[in-house]
Amino acid sequence: MRVEIIPCLQDNYSYLIIDEKTSLACVVDPGESEPIISFVENNNINLKFILNTHHHYDHIGGNKDIKKKYNTKVVGFLGDKKRIPELDIFLKDKEIWKYENFEAKIYHIPGHTSGHICFNFFHEKLLFTGDTLFSLGCGRIFEGTYEEMFNSLNLIKSFPKETKIFCGHEYTDKNSEFCLVYDSDNEKLKSKINENKLKLKDGLPTIPTTLEEELDMNIFLRSDKKNIQRNINLNNPTALKTFSKLRDLKDNF
Ligand code: ZN
Ligand code: FE
Repeated sequence: MRVEIIPCLQDNYSYLIIDEKTSLACVVDPGESEPIISFVENNNINLKFILNTHHHYDHIGGNKDIKKKYNTKVVGFLGDKKRIPELDIFLKDKEIWKYENFEAKIYHIPGHTSGHICFNFFHEKLLFTGDTLFSLGCGRIFEGTYEEMFNSLNLIKSFPKETKIFCGHEYTDKNSEFCLVYDSDNEKLKSKINENKLKLKDGLPTIPTTLEEELDMNIFLRSDKKNIQRNINLNNPTALKTFSKLRDLKDNF
């Protein structure tokens, strides 16, 4: 199984999960159809499924045209069947979806939207997090509560550390500037920032990251850390209160 990163729109990433034994493939969150179709045409793969993490346009914009061209089946959250266009296969929280060598468990992770899910390909330890967990950041809370987003991120924190994280946008550089303000002694973060800047300068994605790296450097996964709680000056801080404050600060960063 390999994953191809396909940049879409301004700063979105769509991902092709390709089974090299069968040439069958799934695409995660096609924000637009053209880059996906051109990759499929040039690489002789058989695109079978579209997997959508949530209903926002920059994640589903390519659904219709891709489905029309390849008769691809669209897989998404049951609770969002009215909002995800062309949905064929409806999944519930913690359901396992399987087709030939593809096997993923989905988790309902509300906060960014009320119907957001992630796809965990647990055999290969690949996690597609959409706009919930970014590298060194997390999504804005549009439809949920702080607590929902906090719980969704905590669920992701429980996956194996070596899990590879594939998120919906290239926001890493801007995210890292925010982390550095409130976690300024984090040496791993500082060297990661330099590493990421070099990648971006060469036109390379900073994705995938790993859960281990995110646990060490992503401030939104570190709201239980005393130094971060101190740096944002809350009375009687808890992890949830710290997370909520950080989310507000980031919205205005
Ligand atoms: Zn979104
Ligand atoms: Fe998005």
